[in-house]
Amino acid sequence: MKIWLDGGLQDIGSARVSVLDHGLTVGDGIFETVKAVDGRPFALTRHLDRLTRSARGLGLPDPDLDEVRRACAAVLEANPVPLGRLRITYTGGHGPLGSDRGEQGTTLVVALGGTTRRPDSTAVVTVPWTRNERGALTGLKTTSYAENVVALARARERGASEALFGNTVGQLCEGTGSNVFVVLDGEIHTPPLASGCLAGITRALVVEWTGARETDLPLDVLQRAEEVFLTSTLRDVQAVHRVDDRESTGAPGPVTAKAMRIFDERSGADLDP
Ligand code: PLP
Repeated sequence: MKIWLDGGLQDIGSARVSVLDHGLTVGDGIFETVKAVDGRPFALTRHLDRLTRSARGLGLPDPDLDEVRRACAAVLEANPVPLGRLRITYTGGHGPLGSDRGEQGTTLVVALGGTTRRPDSTAVVTVPWTRNERGALTGLKTTSYAENVVALARARERGASEALFGNTVGQLCEGTGSNVFVVLDGEIHTPPLASGCLAGITRALVVEWTGARETDLPLDVLQRAEEVFLTSTLRDVQAVHRVDDRESTGAPGPVTAKAMRIFDERSGADLDP
């Protein structure tokens, strides 16, 4: 397996990042996960825009997007897989322990993992912890993901594949690695970005392509919604058949099934929508 590290391809077994990299010691880094179909990245331009936004939010220098594009192309060419996920990681570089920021430039790593199409429906749980809709990192895709790891472990213990967070004012927010949509009176709604959720790229495409509305939703909407679904780069549009103990038969329901169809058709037609 070849990965890209700071300017060129390297063998994954010998590629080295400093043990004092601030991405490792304090989580001062950002990332993107990009789906790649037959060696071609999906929605890369949107991912690179978000990478730049996350860098600015964290106070990192803007990433060199030409290098990131070259890195993605080189990694995909070196590791052919029919369906893959590119992982772009960009950190504040390395520097002495205790310094505010890496002092030696930045670190860029692009790696590729295989992936498979997710099942059409899944189970989710809600967790008692909250997303902070007004935090310094809100909306940034940083490598500080430990909270998501803990919540996902809780979901797995309960036979679910995703955990959903509310925010500090009790509104529905997002999953550990996905955005959430609900169907009410036949209409699709998703929490607004002000809820503290990540500006998911799949979320934006689904809003654009289905006319879903951005609505403040109380967390307990999950117990009365006609349908619930998730969106993310790795799930695309995925129906939810169980929220906590509430099981719904027939997921994907008709509205979710239509959203899935629209997403498959439109995303298959244009790899950089
Ligand atoms: N929310 C969080 C916290 C995420 O980490 C992700 C993706 O990793 C998403 C939502 C979904 O975003 P996207 O559709 O861009 O994959």
